[in-house]
Amino acid sequence: MRFREEPVTPVYRRWMCEQVGCDGELVSTGEGITRLSTRWKHRCGKCGHEDWAGATYPRVAYLPFDAIGPEDSYT
Ligand SMILES: [Zn+2]
Repeated sequence: MRFREEPVTPVYRRWMCEQVGCDGELVSTGEGITRLSTRWKHRCGKCGHEDWAGATYPRVAYLPFDAIGPEDSYT
Protein backbone atom coordinates (compact mmCIF):
# COMPACT_ATOMS: atom_id res chain seq x y z
CA MET A 1 0.00 0.00 0.00
CA ARG A 2 1.40 3.33 -1.03
CA PHE A 3 0.15 6.61 0.29
CA ARG A 4 0.63 10.18 -0.68
CA GLU A 5 -0.57 12.75 1.81
CA GLU A 6 -1.11 16.42 1.34
CA PRO A 7 -2.30 19.09 3.72
CA VAL A 8 -5.89 20.24 3.43
CA THR A 9 -7.81 22.75 5.42
CA PRO A 10 -11.47 22.62 6.44
CA VAL A 11 -13.82 25.41 5.46
CA TYR A 12 -17.38 26.00 6.50
CA ARG A 13 -19.24 26.16 3.19
CA ARG A 14 -22.44 28.19 3.19
CA TRP A 15 -24.75 28.33 0.17
CA MET A 16 -25.52 31.97 -0.39
CA CYS A 17 -28.78 32.92 -2.05
CA GLU A 18 -28.44 34.02 -5.67
CA GLN A 19 -31.69 35.93 -5.91
CA VAL A 20 -31.15 39.54 -6.95
CA GLY A 21 -30.86 41.80 -3.94
CA CYS A 22 -30.95 38.94 -1.45
CA ASP A 23 -27.98 38.22 0.74
CA GLY A 24 -29.53 35.29 2.56
CA GLU A 25 -28.32 31.77 3.00
CA LEU A 26 -29.88 28.56 1.74
CA VAL A 27 -30.14 26.01 4.52
CA SER A 28 -31.18 22.38 4.24
CA THR A 29 -34.76 21.74 5.28
CA GLY A 30 -33.97 18.09 5.91
CA GLU A 31 -36.32 17.09 3.11
CA GLY A 32 -34.82 14.91 0.41
CA ILE A 33 -35.96 13.04 -2.66
CA THR A 34 -34.15 10.07 -4.11
CA ARG A 35 -34.34 9.13 -7.74
CA LEU A 36 -31.04 8.25 -9.33
CA SER A 37 -29.37 10.13 -6.51
CA THR A 38 -30.60 12.00 -3.48
CA ARG A 39 -31.43 15.69 -3.76
CA TRP A 40 -31.83 17.83 -0.68
CA LYS A 41 -34.21 20.72 -0.38
CA HIS A 42 -32.89 24.06 0.82
CA ARG A 43 -34.63 27.28 1.65
CA CYS A 44 -33.32 30.82 1.91
CA GLY A 45 -33.81 32.17 5.41
CA LYS A 46 -34.30 35.68 4.04
CA CYS A 47 -36.42 35.58 0.88
CA GLY A 48 -37.79 32.04 1.04
CA HIS A 49 -36.28 30.97 -2.29
CA GLU A 50 -36.09 27.19 -2.53
CA ASP A 51 -33.54 25.12 -4.44
CA TRP A 52 -32.15 21.60 -4.48
CA ALA A 53 -28.63 20.28 -4.18
CA GLY A 54 -26.88 16.94 -4.11
CA ALA A 55 -25.56 17.63 -0.61
CA THR A 56 -26.81 19.44 2.46
CA TYR A 57 -25.58 22.93 3.28
CA PRO A 58 -24.04 24.42 5.25
CA ARG A 59 -21.36 21.76 5.39
CA VAL A 60 -17.69 21.36 6.14
CA ALA A 61 -15.55 20.95 3.04
CA TYR A 62 -11.84 20.28 2.75
CA LEU A 63 -9.73 22.30 0.37
CA PRO A 64 -6.11 22.07 -0.72
CA PHE A 65 -4.13 24.11 1.74
CA ASP A 66 -3.34 26.90 -0.72
CA ALA A 67 -6.80 27.11 -2.30
CA ILE A 68 -8.58 29.28 0.22
CA GLY A 69 -10.44 32.14 -1.37
CA PRO A 70 -13.77 33.89 -1.05
CA GLU A 71 -14.84 32.88 -4.54
CA ASP A 72 -13.54 29.33 -4.71
CA SER A 73 -15.41 26.97 -6.99
CA TYR A 74 -14.47 23.62 -5.50
CA THR A 75 -17.37 21.26 -5.00
ZN1 LIG B 1 -32.79 34.70 -0.67
